[in-house]
Amino acid sequence: MIEFVKSAVKKEDFPRPDRDVVFIGRSNVGKSSLLNTLYTQKIAFVGKKPGMTKMINFFLVDGSYHAVDVPGYGFADRSNKELIAFDKMMDGYFSLKERIRLVVMIVDARHRPTIDDVDMIEYLRHHHLKVVIVANKIDKLSQSEQHSCAKMISETLNVPESTIYKTSTLKRRGIDELKSYIEACV
Ligand code: GDP
Repeated sequence: MIEFVKSAVKKEDFPRPDRDVVFIGRSNVGKSSLLNTLYTQKIAFVGKKPGMTKMINFFLVDGSYHAVDVPGYGFADRSNKELIAFDKMMDGYFSLKERIRLVVMIVDARHRPTIDDVDMIEYLRHHHLKVVIVANKIDKLSQSEQHSCAKMISETLNVPESTIYKTSTLKRRGIDELKSYIEACV
């Protein structure tokens, strides 16, 4: 059972229990689709409403932990003022190491991770957060391409290849494995 709790920007507004699994990725990578597939409900739709895309959205899973949808990164069209506000919100949230049990960072299996992805994983490491990489949209790749994509992602983001989850939200592949891993971390 999953339910939307709230959207928030400031620490004092973040809900309890303080146990979060955070989902992050470049815009259009399939973050909303992944949330919907993992939790088999149309939960991430609020994240698509204007305004909500700039907030941190909390969903309670089985009364136990929060699945947290943070804004997609890598927008070229944001003003400096917006970027500063965004960074401030993200810094405030990501410094809460105790509540963040896992960060699920989603990348596009079809392409080498971008500079935005590299910056993001370095930022997460700087905050000493536990991160798992999900390579999504593997249905678009052949078997051999799937193998080389994991190698490419592993090299670019400096993570062991064996720790990368390859998923397709469209074909529901790799979803149960990822969910088991998430639940072992919370
Ligand atoms: P978000 O912006 O990261 O939340 O991305 P969305 O979940 O809205 O997905 C962006 C686009 O990618 C949509 O057209 C989805 O249908 C598509 N998409 C998401 N996951 C997959 C996948 O596993 N395979 C394929 N082929 N398309 C996907």
